[in-house]
Amino acid sequence: VTILAIETSCDETSAAVVENGTNILSNVISSQIDLHKIYGGVVPEIASRKHIEKINGVIEEALEMANKALDDIDVIAVTYGPGLVGALLVGVASAKAMAYALNKPLIGVHHIEGHISANFIEHKDLKPPFICLVVSGGHSHLVIVKDYGEFEIIGKTRDDAAGEAFDKVSRAIGLGYPGGPKIDKLAKEGNKKAIDFPKAYLEEGSYDFSFSGLKSAVLNYINQCKMKDEKINNADLAASFQESVVEVLVNKTIKAAKDYNMKNIALAGGVAANSALREKMNKACEENEMKLHYPSLVYCTDNAAMIGVAAYYDYIKGVRHGYDLNAVPNLKLGQKK
Ligand code: ATP
Ligand code: MG
Ligand code: FE
Repeated sequence: VTILAIETSCDETSAAVVENGTNILSNVISSQIDLHKIYGGVVPEIASRKHIEKINGVIEEALEMANKALDDIDVIAVTYGPGLVGALLVGVASAKAMAYALNKPLIGVHHIEGHISANFIEHKDLKPPFICLVVSGGHSHLVIVKDYGEFEIIGKTRDDAAGEAFDKVSRAIGLGYPGGPKIDKLAKEGNKKAIDFPKAYLEEGSYDFSFSGLKSAVLNYINQCKMKDEKINNADLAASFQESVVEVLVNKTIKAAKDYNMKNIALAGGVAANSALREKMNKACEENEMKLHYPSLVYCTDNAAMIGVAAYYDYIKGVRHGYDLNAVPNLKLGQKK
């Protein structure tokens, strides 16, 4: 099966051609970061307009790079939620139009299911069940992947997502958007033990996360330094903040893996690109004789290849969508199709 996949849920316009599940023939990503960063974050209206301008060219390029004609495509797949409604609609409308014109099956994909499925691209040995820490710009979930397309969320954030915390702290120290990669880089020059920021473990046994208290503690620290006219060491701040996030993510994931008797752990979403998280999780997995998987950087952040992979497992299960497929901005993971 050859799948043409489209992703427009946030600020990257992406199209990919995916063959037989996990063979990525092309994965074209047109990022709008430069447009949004002057506003310090994604502006939904600008995102939708830019998707409209880019989508046809991105799809054409994906087909060209894969050396495929439209006739070679068997399935059209598209992210239909969660995400920005106006952004999602551009992909959904394009996919529906193509599926109709070509008379090919249409499959709507959950964006987070895509992030999780990105792990299958480079880890052909990884099969459910496994435990996945999903940490992205809008989500922080601990998920038991029971089977392809079958998920049990055992923990989630009660306030900010992990990526959101990175982005907000980055803005506060003037590093700009998107904050994750910038904090990650700066933290390498800092001392992670320099500042004692809070680590939110919540009630005993809870797999939930909370990052807003940490974010406030960072903002308070910055304000206090300003009031006392003390110079802030941004590298130490970045390293200490990152350590507070990463320590909790690692300890809760390992605890859950033990409790659920899982030997395989996967990371997914943009924050899975974080070097400190990868390193600490790797170490913890080694100590506990667990195996860690994560996608390479390009498959961690938003891309259409991961959507094509998720669509493949839906396809073999017989999932199909009609031309009434709509964008669902708050689509829940594991929601029945
Ligand atoms: P969602 O997937 O929840 O809908 P999204 O699609 O906007 O949200 P992703 O593209 O998956 O999010 O990830 C983007 C997020 O990942 C941003 O918050 C960004 O700061 C963060 N991020 C990217 N690289 C890194 C990194 N190296 N370290 C930490 N965070 C990172
Ligand atoms: Mg993005
Ligand atoms: Fe995403």
